[in-house]
Amino acid sequence: MVHFVGAGPGAEDLITVRGKRLLEEADTVIYAGSLVREELLGYVKEDCAVYNSAYLTLEQVVEICEAAEKSGQEVVRLHTGDPSLYGAVREQMDRLDALGIPYDSCPGVSSMCGAAAALNLEYTLPDVSQTVILSRMAGRTAVPEREQIAALAAHRATMVLFLSAGMTEELAKELIRGGCREDTPAAIVYHATWPDERTCLCTVGTLAETAKINGITRTALIIVGDVVPHSRYRRSDLYHPAFSTMFRDAQDCGDRPACGEAQARREGPGHRDRPACEEDSASGEGPARRPAEDGGEDE
Ligand code: SAH
Repeated sequence: MVHFVGAGPGAEDLITVRGKRLLEEADTVIYAGSLVREELLGYVKEDCAVYNSAYLTLEQVVEICEAAEKSGQEVVRLHTGDPSLYGAVREQMDRLDALGIPYDSCPGVSSMCGAAAALNLEYTLPDVSQTVILSRMAGRTAVPEREQIAALAAHRATMVLFLSAGMTEELAKELIRGGCREDTPAAIVYHATWPDERTCLCTVGTLAETAKINGITRTALIIVGDVVPHSRYRRSDLYHPAFSTMFRDAQDCGDRPACGEAQARREGPGHRDRPACEEDSASGEGPARRPAEDGGEDE
């Protein structure tokens, strides 16, 4: 059987418990060597056959799976982050289907989560953005016309851009063409969760210069939107005393300011006004009784 496993964003302790167990039990591992850190291979058995897919074609990957399956072996196909994002997994699954080889998937922590952790960031701040757009600049892989960055930028939602660190100048132009202000906050997170992780806070207008100054051209995510400085947002309804959920009754707010009112100009924990680059590492109108589904993580 073949297991598609998400390796996580880099740190070897950010693979899931299930993913680690599958790696420990595997007879053959095919890992995406361009991004999966070698440290993760420390979990495999001594006699496990290990292949770096950076040197292989789809056909060769499938041949290895087929031979392993014939010998009754367990195969782990290890992809960076979560396999469902830019993982080229579907084409492998279709080939396995054609050969009658069974497979399953084990999710991983995407680099977009690793990058948020690096910045202590919440992508979905009430009154700022409740939508995250994941996309990329077109490279050798085309992006459908209707998904051009400028068209997506017009939503003014939080954007997380993969595979685009080498194209920051064009990216910034596209963002501005789509209606982003030059001073829209942005961040570049390089090697999120790796020992040499770097976070650079900037704006859309200074994105290209920031990437250049810091020599970042790959293995980085670019995050765009007003959630980055998290300086102005509305507190959640879900944890507001005046909010009822199926687990907790609302309390009387007395004559405190309107429940759920914006907490203006707040500097969040873990956030400092940082120089261009630094090495480191539910909203609502207040007391109305709303169903818990409107809340957030605990719904
Ligand atoms: N499936 C992966 C994405 C693979 S596409 C995931 O869920 O994260 C490869 C792109 O992901 C890179 O070009 C980069 O934009 C991003 N990426 C992968 N690992 C990263 C990391 N540790 N830090 C920052 N970006 C990363």
